[in-house]
Amino acid sequence: MKKPFYITTTLPYVNADPHIGFAMEVIRADIIARWKREQGFEVFFNTGTDERGAKIFEVAKKAGQKPQVYVNEAAKKFQTLIPLLNLSEPNFIRTTDLPHIKAAGEFWRICAQNGHIYKKPYKIKYCVGCELEKTDSELVNGQCPLHPTRKIEEIEEENYFFRFSAFQKPLLALYEKYPDFVVPAERLSEIKS
Ligand SMILES: [Zn+2]
Repeated sequence: MKKPFYITTTLPYVNADPHIGFAMEVIRADIIARWKREQGFEVFFNTGTDERGAKIFEVAKKAGQKPQVYVNEAAKKFQTLIPLLNLSEPNFIRTTDLPHIKAAGEFWRICAQNGHIYKKPYKIKYCVGCELEKTDSELVNGQCPLHPTRKIEEIEEENYFFRFSAFQKPLLALYEKYPDFVVPAERLSEIKS
């Protein structure tokens, strides 16, 4: 039986057209996938599109389209990269695909059932441009330095949290037992800290 090998790219947000940075990433992943196939591995090479988030909702609204209509068009642009960049048979997953929705829902259900998801009030400064929470030290004169024309939003809401602390000890034990679980070693140090 062939040994399995899985590799995935990040799933880019579809709020903008594919850019050269993502081409670089997906070509690198393709090189590794081809190399592993040559070595006799059963390779699952994954890429796709992330079609969720406030930024995508905003762009769709601006284009006067329903989000699903907008992301359908946007995903096509990313799918054309497969022949364009001569990628070797990647699996292309969209976060609005039914299997993805089902799997994400099931993952949530298992976590919730085991008490790993909880709710608490949450107040943050948020840059829609970055799709990220910003700390005061990251802001310049109260603005995101990457998006100086956008207003920093203050968001206060009740939110769901994942009880990551429950996994601290088991994960540290895992890394202890399998030191090459995360490579390269400096990334493992980052994760541990
Ligand atoms: Zn920003």
